Amino acid sequence: MKNYMKMSQLYAPTLKEDPSEAELASHRLLLRAGMIRKTAAGLYSYLPLAWRSLLKIETVIREEMEAIGAQEMQVPMVVPGEIWQESGRWDVYGPELLRLKDRHGRDFVVGPTHEETFVDLVRNELRSYKQLPVTIYQIQDKFRDEMRPRFGLMRGREFIMKDAYSFDATVEGMQKTYEDQKGAYARVCERCGLRALPVVADSGQIGGDTSVEFMALADAGEAELVWCDCDYAADVEAACVGIAYEEGPGQECERIETPCEGSIAALAAYLGISERACRKSFAIIAEDETPVLCLLPGDHELNEVKAEHAFGHYDVMTEEQMAEYGLVKGYMGPIGADKRVRVVADVSLKDSQSWLVGANEEGWHIKGARPGRDFTVDEWLDLASAKEGDACPRCGKPLHAARGIEVSQVFQLGTKYSEAMGATFMDEDGKEKPFQMGCYGIGVSRTLAAVVEQNHDEHGIIWPVCVAPYEVEIVPLDAKGEVWDAADRVARELVAKGIEVVVDDRKERPGVKFNDADLMGFPYQVVCGKRGIKDGKVEVKDRATGEREDVAIDEVATYLAEKVVAQRR
Ligand code: ATP
Ligand code: MG
Repeated sequence: MKNYMKMSQLYAPTLKEDPSEAELASHRLLLRAGMIRKTAAGLYSYLPLAWRSLLKIETVIREEMEAIGAQEMQVPMVVPGEIWQESGRWDVYGPELLRLKDRHGRDFVVGPTHEETFVDLVRNELRSYKQLPVTIYQIQDKFRDEMRPRFGLMRGREFIMKDAYSFDATVEGMQKTYEDQKGAYARVCERCGLRALPVVADSGQIGGDTSVEFMALADAGEAELVWCDCDYAADVEAACVGIAYEEGPGQECERIETPCEGSIAALAAYLGISERACRKSFAIIAEDETPVLCLLPGDHELNEVKAEHAFGHYDVMTEEQMAEYGLVKGYMGPIGADKRVRVVADVSLKDSQSWLVGANEEGWHIKGARPGRDFTVDEWLDLASAKEGDACPRCGKPLHAARGIEVSQVFQLGTKYSEAMGATFMDEDGKEKPFQMGCYGIGVSRTLAAVVEQNHDEHGIIWPVCVAPYEVEIVPLDAKGEVWDAADRVARELVAKGIEVVVDDRKERPGVKFNDADLMGFPYQVVCGKRGIKDGKVEVKDRATGEREDVAIDEVATYLAEKVVAQRR
């Protein structure tokens, strides 16, 4: 028989003070409300309240997957290193991949994602186009030995992920499956109460060429994105936007003294020109050891992800290396640099004829420098991070900037893994062909954190009904007598209507109970006090709006049950 939960028995050790290690509201509140505890860096225990919310998020995911015909299953968390060697990712994944050896000395990995495992699973069993398409998924802990685990559940080392993999016979089929998953992901965000945007994304370690991330908008988010009124939105690391170049001063190549600090801002101010009219230089050593000088519009930054695509795992040049290649910090430029330096410029500057660049001498710049005449640009590449005001690649209007939390991502993989791992099927024309694949991940534990990040105030969490650990909290101001009886009755009636209820039965002062109720943030609070009960009433407080109203004891269960059920989505 269903019953209500007594606060006195709930394992939710709340904290009175803000934990010092928590920078983000979600991290702080999940700790304070007794929902999570840190076991070690990036390793968290989910206590009962968090677990209830996580299960609800998983239920939403399962329903949406079922609606598009994806099937749930489970593979092992620890998988053989050989399949990672086969796909080629053993060598490229880096230290985030937790590798271990078993007692026989064989290599294993703790799955950070499972493309290899699923391809290995199906490759000898899905044999014919007649069996396709198939989409299979699991909800399971993943492990990534993140360099900087932080922000609580946002960036853990062990975290819960739902990961799906699709196998199609044709590119069109894969695109349709991908669109279905994308649609389901949008609905998962919406049903969990997240305000999220689908943004064009980089494919990162996973690979493939078409990918979208769902970004929960939040100022505290780690991801930077740009969006346009026309609906275009992209991660700055993926956005290939229009940057309007601005010419520097002068037409003739001429050395000018610039006795100012070696920053673009100082240079622009000293010369009375815009930062964009200057050229910013970044000196790096590419993975293949080539020294590279990257030139960008002065008001834009080199995007690390774009740079990694172009140069592999690169390093920023040290001052000794700069000296070796004839470059001077703060006054770098292509003219006078060592011949071995490869000069690469952002593609937005291709038509610009007058560049203001460093002269490779402290206190000096060169104006009016023209590529092709005064120096050579070896390659034009998309290198700059998109930012506010850049032109939308779709409609040309200025873009807006925002920050977000990446809660999920979908990828069209094509044949990247199926080819590498020899996973083929017999097509209608009798030929063996590699599967057209897609993969789709939702950070379940990160979604929980994102919901809190978007839904809280200075007093605590404000749970959307759909993912709230409990839906109603009853706060009797007396733990005995008629007040307790009324609270108990309302709680039982609500439970009978299928509502999830906590009763704060502790012998605490009302202030303590109210504070905890706001901190834990269940959507509705029912306050039972002596005075109201004399009039046959209790007070209902809506946690989100703060509105309070008196409702007859006889009616309150029906009244609240209706409200709650309507918001369950
Ligand atoms: P990020 O860029 O934030 O490191 P990612 O792009 O590497 O994430 P994916 O490989 O796309 O992550 O994994 C799918 C989802 O798993 C992500 O959208 C995110 O919600 C979640 N996720 C990834 N890394 C972590 C982590 N360290 N902690 C919690 N959730 C994570
Ligand atoms: Mg991602």
